[in-house]
Amino acid sequence: MRRLLLWCAQNPWLATHVPRWRFARRAVRRFLPGEGFEAALKAAVEFKSKGIGALFTLLGENVIDLADANRVVEHYEEVLAAATGVQAEVSVKPTQLGLDIDPEAAYANLRRLARAAANAKSFLWIDMEGSAYTERTVDLYKTLRAEHSHVGLALQAYLHRTVSDVASLMPLKPAIRLVKGAYAEPADIAFTARREVDENYLALCALMLPEVKRRSLRLVIATHDTNLIAKAWGFGKALAIDPAHFEIAMLYGIRTDQQLRLAREGFSVRDLISWGDAWYAWYLRRLAERPANMWFVARQLLP
Ligand SMILES: Cc1cc2nc3c(=O)[nH]c(=O)nc-3n(C[C@H](O)[C@H](O)[C@H](O)COP(=O)(O)OP(=O)(O)OC[C@H]3O[C@@H](n4cnc5c(N)ncnc54)[C@H](O)[C@@H]3O)c2cc1C
Repeated sequence: MRRLLLWCAQNPWLATHVPRWRFARRAVRRFLPGEGFEAALKAAVEFKSKGIGALFTLLGENVIDLADANRVVEHYEEVLAAATGVQAEVSVKPTQLGLDIDPEAAYANLRRLARAAANAKSFLWIDMEGSAYTERTVDLYKTLRAEHSHVGLALQAYLHRTVSDVASLMPLKPAIRLVKGAYAEPADIAFTARREVDENYLALCALMLPEVKRRSLRLVIATHDTNLIAKAWGFGKALAIDPAHFEIAMLYGIRTDQQLRLAREGFSVRDLISWGDAWYAWYLRRLAERPANMWFVARQLLP
């Protein structure tokens, strides 16, 4: 089911037609407060009142026109200026900034956003996409990190290479958001069994948390897997890391009760809030993460 849903995420016919179906638009609302930024901002204000920070993302990927990439940058510049009150951070996909078309233009766009994030006293994260982009994305981050301090990169625990990426990034005093990984990757480059991904996730946390303690790494544990979070905190606690420096991020609409519990327990929690009309591929990846979500979609077919 996971593979089928991830195949559907890449299918151009479905990508054009599904977003027009009313029941699909109803179903996606579970993971999006709305298609406009105002809804995301309103959700962030509510989260802030409960001690949870926000991480903003405009949906969209694989833009095929640099003018569109430029519009994305302009939009984020407005978002960063508007979001100073909620101390939100932003997270962008390199292919949304033109990586498929012109890597230099994509880098120039990232720099513009890093500058805008610095002016807004915010933080810029780079999402990690499918493995075709991993090498280029790590390189983009390394170059950007040499110029800007408030920039971070998502790394995927399902990739075999991640442990060496962590090692090569460490001298830069990086910020790393560790995720399990949301794409369909082959067994020669990725762990495909859930247990192996979880084991690697934990091993990477064990490797990185001492650097958090030394303040040479900002680590965000981005998962809804509360068992993994508890085990990682076991390492954090043993290292006497302050819970306020133990950062956790989850997606809007998923395990909100756990986000609130972790914030109440003193951990630093952020909710990734998305908006925009280009939700199709992103939404299919959310369904693939938990195929039981298909029941929720099916229920939207009922009157
Ligand atoms: C803040 C954040 C940023 C991310 N950025 C990236 C990125 O840049 N690149 C990338 O490849 N991936 C990214 N992801 C997605 C990530 O790779 C996983 O696909 C996703 O988080 C699901 O895995 P999990 O860690 O929650 O663990 P899982 O083992 O999949 O889930 C643990 C439990 O969480 C709940 N859960 C998980 N997903 C869902 C869902 N969709 N619907 C309902 N319940 C669910 C279920 O109860 C499940 O049992 C990000 C995730 C988060 C939280």
